[in-house]
Amino acid sequence: MRYDISPQAIKGFLDPAEGEALYHAALAACELQACCLEVGSYCGKSTVYLGTACRERSAVLFSVDHHRGSEEHQLNEEYHDPALYDAEAGLMDSWPEFRRNLRAARLEDTVVPIVAGSELVARHWNSKLSLVFIDGGHSRQAALADYRGWVPHIVPGGTLAIHDVFEHPEEGGRAPFEIRELALASGLFTLSRQLQSLALLRRT
Ligand code: SAH
Ligand code: MG
Repeated sequence: MRYDISPQAIKGFLDPAEGEALYHAALAACELQACCLEVGSYCGKSTVYLGTACRERSAVLFSVDHHRGSEEHQLNEEYHDPALYDAEAGLMDSWPEFRRNLRAARLEDTVVPIVAGSELVARHWNSKLSLVFIDGGHSRQAALADYRGWVPHIVPGGTLAIHDVFEHPEEGGRAPFEIRELALASGLFTLSRQLQSLALLRRT
């Protein structure tokens, strides 16, 4: 196995086939001599796929998450996990679990965790990116902010990956689908692949 910890043993929301597609997209992106970045680390599942590819190419993956969970992870919500709840703070906290998995995956010299809100980080970002994976907040506001904040940094030939893109409203929320459509309508991206809910777009 190319991973030092089985990604399937990590809590998270990514099908193994989607994970493998992310791994290969990151390998290709690393040829462009720029960094990779993901929004939405959670416990590190996508991080292990992307980060392992970056490690093979001596590249770096920035992984952005405030680790306070999305709407659906909060207390009494559908995807709440009591093991990731900091009762003292009264808040979700996936950071300890993420950090443990990063170490188990031997990715501490490859992945740079950024524990902060995506919008705040994007506002101050000033580096070219070869791959951006958007898998953070799924409200329209959060998804749009991620699109506007991160996509302008992607270099020509680079990849924009978006998770939880559903063609049909009955399958799930609309915001990730809407930003995929925005990217395509911008004329700057072509759809290379739609695998389950993972959209892979190429910056022309
Ligand atoms: N990529 C992960 C799943 C991410 S779940 C996997 O492979 O399993 C979504 C994550 O986005 C949550 O951990 C949540 O804390 C984070 N998130 C939601 N809104 C955010 C925001 N505005 N800034 C930073 N992180 C955010
Ligand atoms: Mg997702």
